[in-house]
Amino acid sequence: MTVKLLGVPYDAHSSFLRGPALAPAAIRAALTCGAANWCTENGRDLDPATNDDWSDIGDVEVSGTGDEAVTTIRLAASEAIADGSHLLSLGGDHMVTWPLVQAVTDRVDGLTIVHFDAHPDLYDSLDGDRYSHACPFARIMEEGKVARLVQLGIRTLNPHQREQADRFGVEVHEFRDWDGTVPRLTGPVYVTVDLDALDPAFAPGVSHHEPGGMSTRQLLDAIRQIGEGDAVVVGADLVELNPTRDIDDVSAMVAAKIARELLGLLVESAP
Ligand code: MN
Ligand code: MN
Repeated sequence: MTVKLLGVPYDAHSSFLRGPALAPAAIRAALTCGAANWCTENGRDLDPATNDDWSDIGDVEVSGTGDEAVTTIRLAASEAIADGSHLLSLGGDHMVTWPLVQAVTDRVDGLTIVHFDAHPDLYDSLDGDRYSHACPFARIMEEGKVARLVQLGIRTLNPHQREQADRFGVEVHEFRDWDGTVPRLTGPVYVTVDLDALDPAFAPGVSHHEPGGMSTRQLLDAIRQIGEGDAVVVGADLVELNPTRDIDDVSAMVAAKIARELLGLLVESAP
C-alpha cells in the first residue's frame, strides 16, 4: 500500500461559514455513488475493489481548536506516512493544510507547494485568529521548511497579503494574468486544492463565492501538467468543500473528480 486517503472533518477555523467538516463524507459518497467509474483521465483504474495501490484509512478525529487541533492532525498525518506512504487528505477548512505540510516537511527536504485557491491565505491573522483558514501559508512560510510556494487561481490580493507574499517570496500567479501554464517543478511537490479556486459556477459548494475563477477543465489540465512534469508528488489535499452550500451535489462530484486525479498523481509518484 503506497498511498493513503485520510479524511479531515474539521472546520473550526473557518472565518465565515462552517461546513467543510462534512466534506470527507460527501466526497466519499460522490466517489462511490456509481455515477462515475474509478479511472483517472489518463486511464489508470483506481477502483478499490481491484487496485491495491491505495487505501482509505478513515477520518482523523479532531477536537479542540488551535494548537490542540494542529497537533492532532499533524500526528495523524505523520503516522500515515511513517512507512513512506504518500497521503491524500480530503476535507476540512484550509487551516488543516498547515499540520499536513508539517508532517511532510518532517520527512522531506526541499518541498515545493503548489496551491490552487481564489485566496492567498497569507494573513498574519484574521479576526484575531492566527489559526484562521486565511492564515495557513503564513504559518507554513514562517517555519521556513518549504523551498517554494507557487499559488495559482489567486484573485483576492489586498495590500497586506501582497506584502506577506513579498516577505515570504511566494510565487503568486494572479488568475487574471494566467496563461494556463504551471511553472516548471522539480523535486518533491505537495499539491493543495482549495475548491474555491474554481469559479462558483463550477463549484458553488464552498463558503466563499469568489467569481472570475478557474473552470474545472483548467484545474484538471493544471493537475495533468504537474503529473507530466519532473516533480515527485508526495502529498496532496482537497479542502473547503462546504456541502451545506452545494446544489444537487455538483460540487461534491467536482471534488470527487479532482480527488481521483490527485490520487492518480500520488499513485504514479509513489515508492
Ligand atoms: Mn484557501
Ligand atoms: Mn479560498
